[in-house]
Amino acid sequence: MHELSIACSLVEVAAQAAQQHGATRVTRVHLKLGVLSGVDADALRFSYDVAAQGTLLEGSQLEIDVLPAVISCHQCGASCVLPTIQDFRCPACGAPSHHLLQGREIEIAHIEIEVDSVEEQATIS
Ligand SMILES: [Zn+2]
Repeated sequence: MHELSIACSLVEVAAQAAQQHGATRVTRVHLKLGVLSGVDADALRFSYDVAAQGTLLEGSQLEIDVLPAVISCHQCGASCVLPTIQDFRCPACGAPSHHLLQGREIEIAHIEIEVDSVEEQATIS
């Protein structure tokens, strides 16, 4: 399952960052997920729980922030959110565009951790 390997690498990255901050546990992971990433959010949540077992992330919440697809149009110069990912056309002028500015992300925005029972936020660079 594709989502499980993604979940495993997310857990690994978050656990490493948490360790660098001296965390005793991770309470929440905020993830940016592009609509074109090809990842199913529900399957990812399920895999995340499995992958988190036995790590600092066990029992933590995965918050998924779904990012829409944004294209940049060569024709009119507009940067627009695509209303549908079935049709890669500029919503402003109708020209076909495949220049994606956003929509394929699978990125941890930040994590929430506990350091000696005090809650902190950590960003992942
Ligand atoms: Zn356009």
